[in-house]
Amino acid sequence: MKEIKCTIIQDFLPLYVDDVVSEDTKELVEQHLQTCQACQKEYQQMTQTLYVPIENKATLFEKINKKWNRKKMILIGSSILTTLLLCLAVFSYVFYYEKMIPYSNDLFEIEEQEDQTLVATYFGKSHAGTHMTHPMKVEIDGEMKNISLIYYVETMANSPTSNFLQKDQRKDPERLELPDSKTVDEVYYGQFDLEKIIITKEQTWDELLQEMTLIWER
Ligand SMILES: [Zn+2]
Repeated sequence: MKEIKCTIIQDFLPLYVDDVVSEDTKELVEQHLQTCQACQKEYQQMTQTLYVPIENKATLFEKINKKWNRKKMILIGSSILTTLLLCLAVFSYVFYYEKMIPYSNDLFEIEEQEDQTLVATYFGKSHAGTHMTHPMKVEIDGEMKNISLIYYVETMANSPTSNFLQKDQRKDPERLELPDSKTVDEVYYGQFDLEKIIITKEQTWDELLQEMTLIWER
């Protein structure tokens, strides 16, 4: 293969380095390089100069590195954020997401005191809060009645404060006086959204009271 001139080989070298030569040429060049030091030198120089110069290489590497770091930082940042949001969501779900405690007559009781005020008693373990209304005049079956609405809520954890209070101070069932209850005719238990009835009128009193449980009447 010595008959192939170095110049020809060297003409092929750039193509060879770029790997755009045919298999035959590739073989030819490789065979020649194994035996010709001059062309080998040429080849080595070529491969070196074809590489990104060292300083460029460094900046390129830095760039890639920076880019990657930024990507990584964004990734880490967003995963921290996601985690935080998730924690917050779980936290608020556990502590603040209120769910009505369904009515059961061994859990709740309305009692009339001697002075005619009404007292609600909750016999359950713990709860996060109570929603109740002042008496409202509502027409029920053609009769105007003064009604109060009430429901107890729990959260997954119930409120930390209510649990503290309960553990430290209350051993007895919790008693709550209904506001202005001396004039109340009926008490209903169940979830309510007065805005739907009074403001947006999405719901009528009839519809709401049908969903609620009459738990006390005078
Ligand atoms: Zn040669």
